[in-house]
Amino acid sequence: METGVSLDEAIQISLTEPLSRRTERVPIEEARGRVTAVPLLSKVDDPGFDNSAMDGFAVRESDCENEGARLEIVGTSQAGGASPPEIGAGEACRIMTGATLPAGADAIVMIEDTEIDGDHVVINGPARAGFIRRKAENLSIGQEALPSGSLLSSASIALAGTMGHGEIEVITRPRIAILSTGDELIQPGQELSHGQIYESNSHALASLVESMGCVAIRHESANDSLDELRETLDSLSFCDAILTSGGVSMGEWDLVRKIMEEEGNLSFWRMKLRPGGPPLFGNWKGTPLFGLPGNPVSSLVVFHVLVSPWIARSLDYHEETGPRLTQKVSVKLEEDISGAPGKLCLRRIRIRSEDGELLASTHTHQGSGNIHSMVAHNGLTLLPPDIDGLEGDIVDALWLV
Ligand code: AMP
Ligand code: MG
Repeated sequence: METGVSLDEAIQISLTEPLSRRTERVPIEEARGRVTAVPLLSKVDDPGFDNSAMDGFAVRESDCENEGARLEIVGTSQAGGASPPEIGAGEACRIMTGATLPAGADAIVMIEDTEIDGDHVVINGPARAGFIRRKAENLSIGQEALPSGSLLSSASIALAGTMGHGEIEVITRPRIAILSTGDELIQPGQELSHGQIYESNSHALASLVESMGCVAIRHESANDSLDELRETLDSLSFCDAILTSGGVSMGEWDLVRKIMEEEGNLSFWRMKLRPGGPPLFGNWKGTPLFGLPGNPVSSLVVFHVLVSPWIARSLDYHEETGPRLTQKVSVKLEEDISGAPGKLCLRRIRIRSEDGELLASTHTHQGSGNIHSMVAHNGLTLLPPDIDGLEGDIVDALWLV
């Protein structure tokens, strides 16, 4: 068992026990929020045929060189309609957006630039070849347009549909159990007695787990009792992984650490991180388990920097198109922000863009118990161990997206 590991070491160690990656096929109607398990190739050319980008008239450009040219209307091309007639010199065909370009036409005049005169059309504006959408100009058959590991969000699911995929091979959502621990915890909405607090971590962690493409199995919080903890962990072993919060520090009542030491398999305990020093990782009778700190800021921050990369790398999420919660950026500090001796320091910052720069400032008390700091801010510094950030410094940060 390692103690006091760096973030990189913690990620490496946790990846020796990855989440298992399984796949399944789902209909496109149910694919929203899922992650592609294979690259998706286009089954069609897009567009499949030359068509019009405008409502107007399909013409020969050479017939429209003089303003006011009069052309005979020989037919109509409608989206989804029958093949339009071929046009010859001095002729035009009415055309709708998306409708097939008639043979013989090489340009489109927008409807706004025309006037109808009986069975003729008067051309008052430019005839443009650029208003034709050419076959396969967006995608060609066999093109790999959506990589494996992509989140199926609004645009990517539309792309999958455009490419003709009625069913999509996706990663099976792993089930991740979430268990808060602590005698003092009460579910929000109930009456508090003296010394009790509302339990919030499990709700935040469930939301993060779902955003990372997994199913959150939230268990009611466990009391600080070894027997209750053992029974609850055993009951959660049907899940693919377990996240606990609380009970991993040095105290006598930090029973998650104790039970993992005595009855589980512990790979590391404590990280060189502030906030978020006490986490542990190992497995409970074969099920990977992260013991996250109880302090609300710490448990969220450790999810962002440790658990989220573990999920993403276990499941082979694509670095750019896969689900992710943070983006690494460089920010300019608007004030001095102190680092931490020997630890990577994740201060909460508010990042805003001004004059082409990302500026970072702090706005609330930075205590690891103050969850308000995670809402009043939208980023975390990545100040290396022993480094203080000074006003004007450019430093690495994570933007919470
Ligand atoms: P622990 O790591 O169990 O010592 O908890 C550290 C601090 O976080 C204590 O002040 C706890 O009351 C608080 N805490 C622990 N678990 C939760 C939770 N699930 N929701 C909100 N606060 C918590
Ligand atoms: Mg506790």
